[in-house]
Amino acid sequence: GEKGVIIKVLGHGGFRKRIVEMGFIKGKVVEVLLNAPLKDPIKYKVMGYEISLRRQEAGMIEILSEQEAGKLDVSELSLNPDVERGIGEDTRTDDDDLERMALSRRRTINVALVGNPNCGKTSLFNVASGAHERVGNYGGVTVDAKDGWFDYEGYHFRLIDLPGTYSLSAYSPEEVYVRHHIIDKTPDIIINVVDASNLERNLYLTTQLIDMNVRMVIALNMYDELEQSGNKLDHKQLGKLLGAPVIPTVGHKGKGIDELFHTIIRMYEEGEQAVGFRHIHISHGAEIERSIEEVKRMVRKNEDIRSHYSTRFLSIKLLENDRDVEKLIKEMPGGEEILRVRDEEEQRLHNVLKVESEQAITDAKYGFIAGAMRETFVDNHIDTNHATRIIDSFVTNRVLGFPLFFIFLFVMFWVTFTVGQYPMDWIDAGVGAIGDFLEANMPEGILKAMIVDGIIAGVGAVIGFLPQILILYLFISFMEDCGYMARAAFIMDKVMHKIGLHGKSFIPFIMGFGCNVPAVMATRTIENRRNRLVTMLILPMMSCSARWPVYVMMVGAFFAVKYQSLVMLALYICGFIVAALMSLAFSKWLVKGDDTPFVMELPPYRFPTRKAIFRHTWEKGKQYLKKMGTIILVASIVVWALGYFPHHEELDQQEQQEQSYIGRMGKAIEPIFSPQGFDWKLDVSLIAGVGAKEIVASTIGILYINDDSVAEEEDSDEAVASDGDEELSQTEKYQVLREAMEENGITPRTAFAYLLFTLLYFPCIATIAAIKGETGSWKWTIFAAAYTTVVAWVVSALFYQIGGLFV
Ligand code: GDP
Ligand code: MG
Repeated sequence: GEKGVIIKVLGHGGFRKRIVEMGFIKGKVVEVLLNAPLKDPIKYKVMGYEISLRRQEAGMIEILSEQEAGKLDVSELSLNPDVERGIGEDTRTDDDDLERMALSRRRTINVALVGNPNCGKTSLFNVASGAHERVGNYGGVTVDAKDGWFDYEGYHFRLIDLPGTYSLSAYSPEEVYVRHHIIDKTPDIIINVVDASNLERNLYLTTQLIDMNVRMVIALNMYDELEQSGNKLDHKQLGKLLGAPVIPTVGHKGKGIDELFHTIIRMYEEGEQAVGFRHIHISHGAEIERSIEEVKRMVRKNEDIRSHYSTRFLSIKLLENDRDVEKLIKEMPGGEEILRVRDEEEQRLHNVLKVESEQAITDAKYGFIAGAMRETFVDNHIDTNHATRIIDSFVTNRVLGFPLFFIFLFVMFWVTFTVGQYPMDWIDAGVGAIGDFLEANMPEGILKAMIVDGIIAGVGAVIGFLPQILILYLFISFMEDCGYMARAAFIMDKVMHKIGLHGKSFIPFIMGFGCNVPAVMATRTIENRRNRLVTMLILPMMSCSARWPVYVMMVGAFFAVKYQSLVMLALYICGFIVAALMSLAFSKWLVKGDDTPFVMELPPYRFPTRKAIFRHTWEKGKQYLKKMGTIILVASIVVWALGYFPHHEELDQQEQQEQSYIGRMGKAIEPIFSPQGFDWKLDVSLIAGVGAKEIVASTIGILYINDDSVAEEEDSDEAVASDGDEELSQTEKYQVLREAMEENGITPRTAFAYLLFTLLYFPCIATIAAIKGETGSWKWTIFAAAYTTVVAWVVSALFYQIGGLFV
């Protein structure tokens, strides 16, 4: 007795056709008449006929039931203004209302983006949905499915950006993932994104989608590159040959998006035919087709599987020895029999064609593509990747490749440091002014102490680094987006192999300069499990931007200007060396597995859009600011409070700190770090830095810079030269810091040992969480946290002790 109105029929083309022919058409009312004794099949009434459907088939028909309709509120129907009247208070609705509501519910279209890596799926996704997902000019940037939505021409689109794949076989996890997504989530329409400048290879995936008999629209992306190349493509004709509309797009600029989605709506509403297309079969040649038919005849016997999969697709996959499909078939009744027929056919094909059937099918597909290209594509034989080739002849050159890479890195850090210094000075001046103002105008007391000595000293010590961090990210984003990352990985492959890794591991390393967290996630592009794990374990040795403030402060305070960049460089290099040694050790003794060959595409260079780069950079800036307002702020207050209580007004700053909680804690752990020569304040800063490495710097800010005695001394000296109100310059600030530290017996040697420890020890909570997320193993996560700390302790102690022999 239940009633509902059909919203849409999901699933592959063959199934849809059959169901629609039986009268299950959008907007029609279906009524449940009765369940068979075993609950399957179910008898329905539709358009006056009585029809029985299996549960599984029925599950592919989306309906709006009467109960649901009763619960709907009017706002959900607002897409279609003429259905609003009369519904809302009145839960009783007649069939007409129900139909109208179903049709308005129908206005949600699920769309999935499928295509090769690096063909511009995410760019299209971002432009269409206004999302800000990462794009990058190398394969494998998107590793999860991402969803987004937007409204267009009265329709609500739900978009899914799937990971890139070259094919839909079951070789890699991505391929299996995409295939399952298409089959289980049954998107209404698939956008097959193809790279117009690389058609032949991209169309291979298209031929497999055609086998699957899904409704699709082909986005001919990178159309700008095709036009520039002077090659001619009759894309309308190509669409006819492929049986799906082909729409030129320029993903990152948003060109062609309107037409793309307009076509999708029409195809969705009126079917392929209305748009002028009908599903085709890729012909694999007489022999293979005969075998496909034979296998298909067997597969078709199973009703359940027919409703879910295109039987032609399954048969082709079986002949390709696809493990995933084999497993599926084996588990169903009569599966053995199907596999037997498949084996026979395979043998027969092998006898006639003299090649493995899998190979024969691939060849036939490429043959089809070549044929289609011959009819639609005119190559004018102008070398279009001229620029790419010239650039590559330098940057991947045997002699020049490395120096150019290091020059690039040098420029990156140099610009970060020097250009970032100006805005940094302004921010620091601003923070100083606020501090002075509060100092002068707030009533004495605990609140003032907390704000001035806690928040301003702590957050203020690191917030000024924002411009430098933005600049650093600007460079990293640019490297990722233009395509240089893939080259860096390429030239580094050999070196990386020497330490037991893979060229691809190098991309996360460079990203690690920005932040270790996305770098850990970026390791997903590494297919080999052993390499992935080792890469993740040693990634924390890359100096992320959160460590930058500590480096700058300590190096600025303890080393003469002309040595400063050298000391910084030494730190980065130490990170590399330790990472290399660890990688060697881990690959040899700890993590088992084989090497995979180096397969990495070198895409043509593409000049990234300014918008994408700035957006990417700004996202990072926002994250940094957010960190300031949350974890750094809280940590600053906690560190301050631990230093403030128990409070004794009569003591001076130094004595007060020493007898406070933090002082007692510091003193208690002091022996642990005596081989490094750290004082208790440094020890405390390291402990606090477990939360985030910026806290190391902010804690130093609270414990040292705020040291009144030194600051006053300094002020009185200054007063002679300038007037006392003037802000301290950067160098003078470092001078203050140095004096405060020297009082506690800290020397440049201690300072460097301290920086080494900061570099190497426990990455930070967020990185550890990322490692847990990626490895899925507590064992490796705890190991990562523990070994880094032990290594840090040993290396810094060694440095300090050995250094002591010379100084
Ligand atoms: P995905 O791997 O398929 O998600 O590809 P992305 O969206 O990450 O894009 C790969 C690269 O191609 C990026 O550098 C984009 O800026 C660039 N790109 C995307 N679409 C186009 C396009 O239509 N024309 C050109 N010239 N570049 C594009
Ligand atoms: Mg992507």
